[in-house]
Amino acid sequence: MESTFHANAEPKVDTIALDGPAASGKSTVGERLAERLGFLFFDTGVMYRAVTLAVLEAGLDVGDEEACTKLAEAIQIDVRPPSQADGRLNDVLIDGLDRTWEIRSPQVDGNVSVVSAYPGVRRALSVKQRAIGMRGQVVMAGRDIGTVVLPEARLKVYLDAPVEERARRRHIERMERGEPSDYEEVLAGLKVRDEIDSTRDVAPLCAADDAEVIDSDRLDVDAVYEKILSLAEERGLV
Ligand code: C5P
Repeated sequence: MESTFHANAEPKVDTIALDGPAASGKSTVGERLAERLGFLFFDTGVMYRAVTLAVLEAGLDVGDEEACTKLAEAIQIDVRPPSQADGRLNDVLIDGLDRTWEIRSPQVDGNVSVVSAYPGVRRALSVKQRAIGMRGQVVMAGRDIGTVVLPEARLKVYLDAPVEERARRRHIERMERGEPSDYEEVLAGLKVRDEIDSTRDVAPLCAADDAEVIDSDRLDVDAVYEKILSLAEERGLV
């Protein structure tokens, strides 16, 4: 697809773009990969989640594109190393407050795809993501990293898995955190998010033409990790 940045810009940046639908394993594999390579792991989904949480808490209507966009432009989102050993990969701060778990709530899950489909919201967040990615040595996870945010990424991976398998993983994660979870509800929620994320006009979820597509259904986490690591080696990233 067409990039809003410079799709053919050279040189390549020492960054790995890791795209794919919700619960396809991007965070687990991306974090491990980043640690192995000495890169930063940056999950762009937290930014869309942070804006959505802020919209809900401000009592704004998620259907109000202008209000959501203004908030995305104004909000301060910080992603920092984890301050607590409670399963978090990072601390996520919104305007200085730790909101790491709040951004994972079912309310945010249910509204984030609507907010992230707004072009103004995407513009505000993509610019920040691109600035982080262009510094290099980053594994950046999302939906549009290889297509829009960092088309110059040296390696692009699109991680996929059937929605039933992704729902099963998400359901188990929730229960392990001691949160109430219903498999059928998780499955229905993921289907709605997949549909909105892949059919929106701006930066829809899709594999870049030059992405390596990996189906994590037939591979366990170790195998996915090894496969991406060997691709990174081939690209001179190791
Ligand atoms: O990755 P995660 O499931 O946390 O992302 C939450 C939502 O944020 C996605 O369903 C999608 O709507 C949005 N998102 C996006 N572009 C990205 C990352 C996330 O639109 N690069």
